[in-house]
Amino acid sequence: MTTTKKPTRTKKAGTQAATKSTSSRKAKVKAVAAVPVAEAKPPVEMPIAELTEVAHVAPVTGSNAELLARREAAVPRGVASAAPVFAARAENAELWDVEGNRYLDFAGGIAVLNTGHRHPQVVAAAKAQEDLYTHTSFQVVPYEPYVALAEKLNALAPGDAPKKTLLVTTGAEAVENAVKIARAHTGRPGVIAFSGAYHGRTLLTLGLTGKVSPYKKDVGPFPSDIFRAPFPDARAGVTVTDALNALETLFLTDADPERVAAIILEPVLGEGGYIPVPTEMWQALRAICDKHGILLISDEIQAGFGRTGTWFAIEHSGVVPDLITVAKSMAGGYPIAGVIGRADVMDALAPGGLGGTYGGNPVACAAALAAIDAIDSEGLLARSTALGETFRARFADIGARTAPYRMWDIRGLGAMLAVEFVTDFDSAKPDAAFTKSVITHALKRGLILLACGMHGNALRIMVPLTASDAIIEEGLAIFEAALADAVAAERQMAAE
Ligand code: PMP
Repeated sequence: MTTTKKPTRTKKAGTQAATKSTSSRKAKVKAVAAVPVAEAKPPVEMPIAELTEVAHVAPVTGSNAELLARREAAVPRGVASAAPVFAARAENAELWDVEGNRYLDFAGGIAVLNTGHRHPQVVAAAKAQEDLYTHTSFQVVPYEPYVALAEKLNALAPGDAPKKTLLVTTGAEAVENAVKIARAHTGRPGVIAFSGAYHGRTLLTLGLTGKVSPYKKDVGPFPSDIFRAPFPDARAGVTVTDALNALETLFLTDADPERVAAIILEPVLGEGGYIPVPTEMWQALRAICDKHGILLISDEIQAGFGRTGTWFAIEHSGVVPDLITVAKSMAGGYPIAGVIGRADVMDALAPGGLGGTYGGNPVACAAALAAIDAIDSEGLLARSTALGETFRARFADIGARTAPYRMWDIRGLGAMLAVEFVTDFDSAKPDAAFTKSVITHALKRGLILLACGMHGNALRIMVPLTASDAIIEEGLAIFEAALADAVAAERQMAAE
């Protein structure tokens, strides 16, 4: 099914730096090799007393090391943390740890902070709501912010059909409910998801998630009637035609299309490596769904709310899905998620069939309304597109100058961007160790980065869209210095 074609250097040369040929990149490397890598500043220290005073919180006692020890004793190891430091305070794209070290946050709490840490409008809205009431349970006594947010999302979602929105608390819960709604509407059990997909860590969503380690290890069996199709990934040699042929085969072998309720996919594969769904794939899936009465679900949990330059990433394709799952940057740091969909589909379940004690918490609703307003009023969709272009150009340049033939691909949509590292361009072997080394060195220098990809060899950029140009430049300088550190560390290891 998935045929891995050996990529050629010539082919990728075009992909990495749109117009640069391999030889011109070589020339560029030579020409600029003598220029020292931009000296990135180490994390700036700020006394802890000053930090806590600014944040108006009780001082955290203990160093990062002490807190790590407490954490190890009290929290299961299954909850991994990328950075071995503890947060004390954060503002927009900056974060300070408990020892007063300053970091630039290019991970945004896993794509939650398109509007940055503690956006003033978001925090003010949440505080104002806290002064009124913090919880009634919408199922007991409803409140207006839930309705207002549903109205807002219904208006923002693509497509002319009337829409309704269900609010829940986490992304996985949104996906679970989208599946429930699709099953209830169609009266069918089947769901098709794709390889490399990430839809959550609950048991149904793990069934949909298409990556074994670490997510699915040791916790099966998973719910039945979930089928897997290959994601169209040029890197893995899977074209859109291959993917669609495999889907047709799946319909013949395992998944009777008359028993399939929904096809779910991320418009940009998130944890799977920031690979956008090609427009022709979306169009073909829409036609297949229409033909068989299957619902099309766009999981926008990571890609939504301006990350790719549009409110929803599927808008780039012009295709209208039946259901959309949302979360993360919708509320600028407050836990809320939802399912937006065609009104007739969303009304499939009887009263009481949807919900949860905390679903659509009023404080999170107020925060979401403010975050959506900030994305709009601050022009963050256009900012995402512009940032994406900056990152593409700068990464191509930095990669060629500082780690020649290691940065295999720069890909994504808007500011939802990743760079992929390989051992060398000839073998194109994914290099997770090198990627990890870049992340470790970046953190030491004060930049928080996260990996992604089926082989853990891509670095994804989820920096707040509200970050200033100065912060972006500072982050890029640290990234380049960390890249140089990783190359040097590798050379040293080889020499030993
Ligand atoms: N779907 C996608 C596309 C995601 O990126 C994530 C989270 N990374 C989820 C679902 C699950 O969201 P949560 O972690 O809030 O359950």
